[in-house]
Amino acid sequence: MVELIVKKRNGQELSKEELTTIIDGFISGEIPDYQVSAFLMAVFFEGMTSTETAILTDLMMRSGELIDLSEIEGVKVDKHSTGGVGDKTTLVLGPLVAAAGVPVAKMSGRGLGHTGGTLDKMESIKGLTIDMTKEEFIDNVKRIKIAVCGSNKNLVPADKKLYALRDVTGTVENISLIASSIMSKKLASGADAIVIDIKVGYGATMKTVEDAEELAKMMIAIGAKMNRKVIAVFTSMSEPLGFTIGNALEVKEAIDTLKGNGPTDLTELCLELGSHMLVLGEVAKTKDEAVEQLKILIDSGAAFDKFKELVAAQGGDISVIEQTDLLPGTQFSQAYKSKDEGYISELNALDIGLASVKLGAGRETKTSEIDHGAGILLKKKIGDYVKKDEVLAMLYSNNDANFTKAVEFMDVAYKISEVQPPHQPLILKTMS
Ligand code: URA
Repeated sequence: MVELIVKKRNGQELSKEELTTIIDGFISGEIPDYQVSAFLMAVFFEGMTSTETAILTDLMMRSGELIDLSEIEGVKVDKHSTGGVGDKTTLVLGPLVAAAGVPVAKMSGRGLGHTGGTLDKMESIKGLTIDMTKEEFIDNVKRIKIAVCGSNKNLVPADKKLYALRDVTGTVENISLIASSIMSKKLASGADAIVIDIKVGYGATMKTVEDAEELAKMMIAIGAKMNRKVIAVFTSMSEPLGFTIGNALEVKEAIDTLKGNGPTDLTELCLELGSHMLVLGEVAKTKDEAVEQLKILIDSGAAFDKFKELVAAQGGDISVIEQTDLLPGTQFSQAYKSKDEGYISELNALDIGLASVKLGAGRETKTSEIDHGAGILLKKKIGDYVKKDEVLAMLYSNNDANFTKAVEFMDVAYKISEVQPPHQPLILKTMS
């Protein structure tokens, strides 16, 4: 392993056999975390070729069982985000698209670095499990058209282990590691078509459109090789999505959105990604027709009913969904106030994400416990006019010692200006 770390550190390409040695050795426990961490850091700085990335994706995909959804009728469509702050899209989009009749077989991720993860959010719901067998996963998609699981010791175990290590070793933002992590899960979970939400901006893993394009091209190419249609939708992650950051807080906002009372940006994103999924799933001919269908499913309550079905099917307590004040809360809260008067010109999603990790909503080590109630409720976002001492956000934690560090990040995140900032579009472009 030392030789392989040095080879990558020196910028050389690794062969299939060498990458196999690393992945197999890591899964069996023969190669320890510290050597794999060093390897990941070498990849972070030196990158991987497209051949290495394709091999890594294949090795990760085949590290566990492959799910065959061919016996389920219809085009199976999946969605994945490259990682954002306040990004609770899957919680809305999954049930919404399933309610439209498209089977959604989704293998999601946990929090990664400063970004949140669907699985951690779902586990805020009492009793709910995301650890499923292949049979349970397929059965739920057959029965209720949706299942959301995580990688585990049988399903893409290589991603489960690598993901946990990347989360806490500063090795998240690498195109090859992101592409292989996402695509291995998507390919193993059997979807025919995949919509990737490529986040771009301060709070995204890709900070520029150029880097995001490179990532999108890589994932589209990996999909093409495996006969899967991939559409990449580039969306802004300069400021957080919606008003909540943190697991239980985001579940509540997702429920509001499923009921038609969600924030404008989150609703717009769900309609955009959802309309692609409906067209790919062949239940709508055009995106416009799909948007109309999705709006009707929200207004009629069918989307929220599907979410309840999903929660019940995975062992979750429905009363928590019907009465969201039963979701985990916190013992302590603190108002974060404006130091100036003027327009909010910046609300850096990276610093907001880091503040929420400090409050307990994310992990700082592999064994950190998530505080599901912890997080941030934004009261003001970019473009809002605020007075001095007006509340910009509420911070929540079960450990009041966490507020000091979180406030340092909040101070960096918010910028106030005398000039009203121009409107920033949420949907930037699409590639397929
Ligand atoms: N989501 C994933 O599943 N993996 C990544 O690396 C980033 C986002």
